[in-house]
Amino acid sequence: MSGKLHVIGIGPGHPDQITPEAREAIAVATDLFGYGPYLDRLPPAAGQQRHASDNREELARARAALDLAASGKRVAVISGGDAGVFAMAAAVCEAVEHGPAAWRALDIAVVPGLTAMLAVAARAGAPLGHDFCALSLSDNLKPWPVIAGRLRAAAAAGFVIALYNPISRARPWQLGEAFAILREQLPPATPVIFGRAVGRAAERVTITALAGADPALADMATCVIVGSPGTRVVERPGLPPLVYSPRSSGADR
Ligand code: SAH
Repeated sequence: MSGKLHVIGIGPGHPDQITPEAREAIAVATDLFGYGPYLDRLPPAAGQQRHASDNREELARARAALDLAASGKRVAVISGGDAGVFAMAAAVCEAVEHGPAAWRALDIAVVPGLTAMLAVAARAGAPLGHDFCALSLSDNLKPWPVIAGRLRAAAAAGFVIALYNPISRARPWQLGEAFAILREQLPPATPVIFGRAVGRAAERVTITALAGADPALADMATCVIVGSPGTRVVERPGLPPLVYSPRSSGADR
């Protein structure tokens, strides 16, 4: 039997948002690797081994998965959201680049999933309806000045900005600092969407303005979308507002 490695995104949390392609790839795997809470979202399958690990051990997990695939197993590496967005697909590619030559001959496939910013955007209307970018606020793997510079550049360029990894116990101040940087350049009324645990039982979506955006509204399971100067809020009687970024860019710079 020849080995196979799938890197699979299982969406933001709701079972309906796992694609049939991802389900099929998971079903044929002999071994599943991933962060424990992601694996817990998948029903157990007979004869399938699970290798749960801590969220910080991405490269070690990628190497272990590649080793097992090289031994002939059908291995699935599971990511939340999309496997290629701040997730395991890049760790697997990095491990292959620096690993034994045999890993380059492996059958490796990435199966896409619904990334968090799309699920959050859908709850609010169409905030990503025009040019946008995504940034991870985690300074575990890049220095804070790089993040601050990218925030300034993105705001100056008129992008809507999706912020992943906005806050954690080990990184308590970065989101507040990010809002402070963005307030230097963006109007106080710029819409900000906090999408927490979208698709899961603990889901909470809050729409506010940049001037009053409170970092306490975010946790590790929150994706924050900051509008561009062109992003609009359409108020509706008795209903949450619709936030959208117009398709034409006349209004944003
Ligand atoms: N690969 C994932 C992102 C992993 S980084 C994806 O494509 O979605 C982890 C970050 O993703 C979290 O800190 C949070 O910002 C975001 N995230 C993951 N699941 C989420 C959800 N259900 N709701 C809101 N944000 C989520």
